[in-house]
Amino acid sequence: PLINSIESSLLDQTIPNSIILTTFNDFSNWARLSSLWPLLYGTSCCFIEFASLIGSRFDFDRYGLVPRSSPRQADLVITAGTVTMKMAPSLVRLYEQMPEPKYVIAMGACTITGGMFSTDSYSTVRGVDKLIPVDIYLPGCPPKPEAIIDAIIKLRKKVAQETYGDRTKLRQGNRYLTLNHQ
Ligand code: SF4
Repeated sequence: PLINSIESSLLDQTIPNSIILTTFNDFSNWARLSSLWPLLYGTSCCFIEFASLIGSRFDFDRYGLVPRSSPRQADLVITAGTVTMKMAPSLVRLYEQMPEPKYVIAMGACTITGGMFSTDSYSTVRGVDKLIPVDIYLPGCPPKPEAIIDAIIKLRKKVAQETYGDRTKLRQGNRYLTLNHQ
């Protein structure tokens, strides 16, 4: 039994680094980072900047980003705008409906900390990372379209270095919808 357990632990260590799985992982990451499909999610003024990315001037389709109206077809949500307490359950529901692996860019001061609503507001979530796990924080009020592109490039670099195992471990460690922080 001891030898079996040693062999099994050696296999656990070597299989993920095998040529076939490493190559598959790189290929899979390349495919995912080249076709991140963001959910059309915007609650206030930040979304105006996000919407301008879709037009011909910034043309963010060239990064493989195709905006989706259904969470089941999206693997990225850019939380553009203030998240109110009333909107929070809907955001969590949308996030949970997105298939894994999925990513979150928290866009703007309101989303990241509550922004100008971070004091004396009973109605605003002070940090979207209390609801869903955030991959990239994009500060600003509002962040410019160029800054959003920069955040997407950073996210692409992050995706390029991931393994499926990394994402699974990350998600297992997260729990959502903890609204008692207010
Ligand atoms: Fe509007 Fe500024 Fe808040 Fe963005 S961060 S939603 S631009 S107030």
